[in-house]
Amino acid sequence: MSLRLTNFRPVGFSPSCDEILIDDAGKICDEVDSARTLDCNGACLSPGWADLHVHVWYGGSDFSIRAHRVGVARGVTAMADAGSAGEATFHGLREYVIDTQPETIRAFVNIGTIGLVACNRVPELAIDNAIDIGRTLAVIERHRDVICGVKVRAGEMVVANHGIEPVHVAKRVADETGLPLMVHIGAAPPALRDIFDVLTPGDVVTHCFHGKPGNTISETPEMFERAKELAARGVLMDVGHGAASFDFAIARGAIRDGLRPHSISTDAHQYNIDGPVFDLATTAAKLLALGLSFDDCIAGISTNPRRFLGLDAAPGVGARADFTIFDLLDSSALARDSVGNTMTLGQMFEPRHAILGDRVYRAARATTHGAAA
Ligand SMILES: [Zn+2]
Repeated sequence: MSLRLTNFRPVGFSPSCDEILIDDAGKICDEVDSARTLDCNGACLSPGWADLHVHVWYGGSDFSIRAHRVGVARGVTAMADAGSAGEATFHGLREYVIDTQPETIRAFVNIGTIGLVACNRVPELAIDNAIDIGRTLAVIERHRDVICGVKVRAGEMVVANHGIEPVHVAKRVADETGLPLMVHIGAAPPALRDIFDVLTPGDVVTHCFHGKPGNTISETPEMFERAKELAARGVLMDVGHGAASFDFAIARGAIRDGLRPHSISTDAHQYNIDGPVFDLATTAAKLLALGLSFDDCIAGISTNPRRFLGLDAAPGVGARADFTIFDLLDSSALARDSVGNTMTLGQMFEPRHAILGDRVYRAARATTHGAAA
């Protein structure tokens, strides 16, 4: 049934009038004969929130969660699974998750054949026959409509004694298929400077504010300048909070010194969904408290990742309706990063509804107790 959205404050885009009309096919339109009305009570309305780093290959990856835990119920209308599946199991991720959820789900295919089937217990690049380029290329062609990039975890425990080599291989596959590369950064080897040398505009650095000693973006002034220069050239810095990959001190310093993330993502999985990550709203509130502007936070959870995923960042007449309705409220919630630092959040993003097509989904943060730690 047709829908009329009223009484909202648009953020992240500029609709042509102060109401949004959605026809019974779920498209934004100029007029409808009769429609139910959703009064947004003065809340903010942005293009739908998008989380560029989640793990939702439930059953095919031991640390993945069910997609509905990080989707419309949390105000998130689009997400990208970040390498839970390699070429061996990608068809399952597609059939059982991507094709069954109301949200738009895309995926980075892991360059390691087994993906994250037993994440960190059986590191995907530390085993024999870890990568099969031919099969990976074939999977990309078969599922090109839902694959948004190639993922490589460039951390010490994952690459074992292969050093930077898997990053080079992943970049070759990405180049050959015209896809972006998403690199997980963490403890060396490989050294961050060697990873940075491989990246070109459009590639993604996830866990950009990790604090693992010796290999952070802020390790030396030269490294930080190099990170800023890459970001200015179009390499995309992605938060990817995670269970071990977000350090308030690194993020605060980087934002203060002019390195703003392209996208704010959760890296939500079994071992952080009940804290410290919880959800995208709480993660965005952390970045706001660390000095990122409100507008940059909205870009980070909405327009920037949406563009990356090929979704409308400025939905107008004719586009499928895809919005998140939320408030920004004063808060005194205590938040935690991945390394044990705590901080009080002065404000909290509170999702109220997600709109996809002509459907309205109620949304809320994962925790309703006001305590986000
Ligand atoms: Zn991850």
